[in-house]
Amino acid sequence: MAFSKEILVELKQKLTEEKNRLEKELDAIGRPTENPGDYETEFDDIGRDKEDNALEVDEYSDNVAVESNLEKQLKDVNEALKRMENGTYGICENCGQVIDIERLRAYPAAKTCIKCK
Ligand SMILES: [Zn+2]
Repeated sequence: MAFSKEILVELKQKLTEEKNRLEKELDAIGRPTENPGDYETEFDDIGRDKEDNALEVDEYSDNVAVESNLEKQLKDVNEALKRMENGTYGICENCGQVIDIERLRAYPAAKTCIKCK
């Protein structure tokens, strides 16, 4: 393990908060599918006439983009939590070096060190 227990506890807390925040945001625009961490964008039916339909489509495509971005972030967070369990957290996926603690504090789900970013 590359880090002290205290630091891991601190970063795990950050990751868990981030996970809760992302899940809340995803819940607001989509609904979870059967696959954990996977969401479906909800299509908001505002009304029946042409203008309403155009608005719905606009809103829907915005939400699809937001949703897929949030989903990606959630996936990174979940993977980071898994790496903590496996004891491989904080190791750069690319070069195998320990990721700088300041980078992890700023972005706890980081998979690579600053050099490999
Ligand atoms: Zn690296």
